[in-house]
Amino acid sequence: MSTSLNPLFYASSGEPLGYIQPDSLREIWFHTGTACNLACPFCLEGSKPGDDRLDRVTLEDVRPLMDEAKSLGVQQFSFTGGEPFIVKSFINILSYASSLNPCLVLTNGTDPVLSRLHQIETLVNSYHPISFRISIDYPNEKRHDASRGKGSFKKSWKSLELLRKRGFKVSIARQIGIDEDSATVDGEYRELFAQHGVPSDTTIVSFPDFLLPGSNPEVPFITERCMTTYHTEESRQAFMCSFSKMVIKKNGRMRIYACTLVDDDESYDLGGTLRESLGKRIMMRHHRCYSCFTFGSSCSEI
Ligand code: SF4
Repeated sequence: MSTSLNPLFYASSGEPLGYIQPDSLREIWFHTGTACNLACPFCLEGSKPGDDRLDRVTLEDVRPLMDEAKSLGVQQFSFTGGEPFIVKSFINILSYASSLNPCLVLTNGTDPVLSRLHQIETLVNSYHPISFRISIDYPNEKRHDASRGKGSFKKSWKSLELLRKRGFKVSIARQIGIDEDSATVDGEYRELFAQHGVPSDTTIVSFPDFLLPGSNPEVPFITERCMTTYHTEESRQAFMCSFSKMVIKKNGRMRIYACTLVDDDESYDLGGTLRESLGKRIMMRHHRCYSCFTFGSSCSEI
């Protein structure tokens, strides 16, 4: 490899790395922190009880960025963790967020949701709708509970049913198995939807294994040529980093990152305000960019 080429911008072959030139700003994700009530061994955020790789946020932390996002025409606020509902002020955060934009909350649907359902249901008539995506890794109780803990599968389905009965829209997140037949697996979920009184067309979002934060697997370089040979302008605009950003709190500071998948790499830190982050080119050098390139991975539902 030529010593004069910066690896942030060039593949080892010397070819320029592929990139996404952000096209719009339609969705902002807020990371509520990496603390979680569960400790799943595969968690792409490395979340677990007491984890503080990313700090918990407060309403005071996120309100200025929500206001800034609204002034920039952002149409959707989405939340991920950790488990958002273990954050004490999360109901207040969601209440304020849903006064500005439709909201999506990613949750494991276990005790933090069930114990705060009486608070969550007060938000059903928010000015903008709130929807929930619950992680149900596999359509099989034993396999799901093996990582999440005994009883988790039943609790997540219970949350899904109760949230839906209270008038919230729900979807699920699942994992993509190696060599799976995706249509068959989705069919197994649809059977479970029927058993739990959930509409058969409920959205299922599937994710590959993103590995733990800080992992550095060897994946092929994505070059500019890959991005023009295998992608079109339209498909490049579907990458999350083309139309969204993620807000995190790290070491006590609010920062804007390129997307939900790269908060373990400071070269994806785009600044402290949304305006500062606008228009910055996103280089496709993180191993998770390869998942976006290959599988079309996206956390977004817009
Ligand atoms: S992980 Fe995907 S969405 Fe994130 S910066 Fe890479 S290509 Fe963009």
